[in-house]
Order: sequence, then structure tokens, then C-alpha cells
Amino acid sequence: MTVPKPSDNYLHYVKKSDIVRSTVEGTEATALCGECFVACGLTGAQGSAELGEVCPICLGEYLTLSPGRSAQSKVVA
Ligand SMILES: [Zn+2]
Repeated sequence: MTVPKPSDNYLHYVKKSDIVRSTVEGTEATALCGECFVACGLTGAQGSAELGEVCPICLGEYLTLSPGRSAQSKVVA
């Protein structure tokens, strides 16, 4: 296992559909890095970076999947 474990303080990118389901049903959302958590806070895709450090794994996946687009939102895990 060489993948670093995401910090609890990181902002993770999560698909919007997962965020909606998580908040509505109280189920776990899965971040792009594979981290699962129940969403407890949202920011826009252009969100507030000052809230915390963005998960580097999620950021890499986000830039790969949707360059210049806002298909995902950041969630404070
Ligand atoms: Zn992440």
C-alpha cells in the first residue's frame, strides 16, 4: 500500500449525485480518492480553499476527469 491516507482535514471532491444522495439519505458518499464519508458540508466547485487543504488525490482525479468543468463539488469531510 503506497497510497497515502487522506487527512480528515482535507477537502475531498465528490460527485454531485453522491453528495445529494448522501445528504438526503444520510448514506456515505465516496470521494474521488476512494474515501467514504457522510457529507457534512458543501462548497461550490470554485469553493473556499481557506476552509482547508484540498486532498491531493482528489484534486488529481478531478483535474483528470473534468478539466475546466464543475462536475464535482468539494466536501468538507
Ligand atoms: Zn480525497
